[in-house]
Amino acid sequence: MAKPKIIFSDFDGTLTERGLISPALFDVFELSHRLDSEMIVVTGRPLSWSHFLMSHTPLKASISEGGGVISIREGKRFKDVYLAPKEDIEKLKSITRILFNEISDFYLSDDSTGRITDRAIELDYIELGDNEERITEILDANEVNYSKSNVHLNFWVGDISKKNSVEYYLENYSTYNKDECIYFGDSLNDQSVFSWMENSVGVSNISRVLKVLKHKPATILQGNNNKEIHGVKNYLKSLLK
Ligand SMILES: [Mg+2]
Repeated sequence: MAKPKIIFSDFDGTLTERGLISPALFDVFELSHRLDSEMIVVTGRPLSWSHFLMSHTPLKASISEGGGVISIREGKRFKDVYLAPKEDIEKLKSITRILFNEISDFYLSDDSTGRITDRAIELDYIELGDNEERITEILDANEVNYSKSNVHLNFWVGDISKKNSVEYYLENYSTYNKDECIYFGDSLNDQSVFSWMENSVGVSNISRVLKVLKHKPATILQGNNNKEIHGVKNYLKSLLK
């Protein structure tokens, strides 16, 4: 493709390296600068992570909570746009209370402080076991949506998705259309964008979930040298030529 106007990218498993921020992240920012592309993170992490990333990197905007909140740099301040109505945010609070009451040993992910439009359960160290069935039963019974990322089981009320937030951003805060943009991801919660944006790329560690993906990215990178952020870096480098 031509040089993308906006590079949208998932964070965990796509812009990280074995779970950590690595020096390669700054190489990716440098490459986006050389491509003259805007870079926007689209993550399942909470709003506070968008603020953190925007405080310490050149990001002009960041989308968090799986598409629930768009944060935009306005001068020296950040403006947060919630893509969930108040009643959905209230319903989410009450469903979370139900889960705490009904499920023994239920607790939310370590990064939950400040979550507004969704909630997350850590997958790394909690054996959900039988609890997973009970949790999803309660979520289904209350028409609450949920999705697994590479790190969390996230749940939310209403029509929140990474795709909807990217579309909203393009319509309201940009002059570009989706065909001029690119999206990088690695997991199930990236599918809504994979199914909608023509230029979508899966980094090679997406192979872990490829069998269960209903919507695959247009390009799937291969090999260990295209894992996680190195896949993003290599792909962006190829666009410079
Ligand atoms: Mg991910």
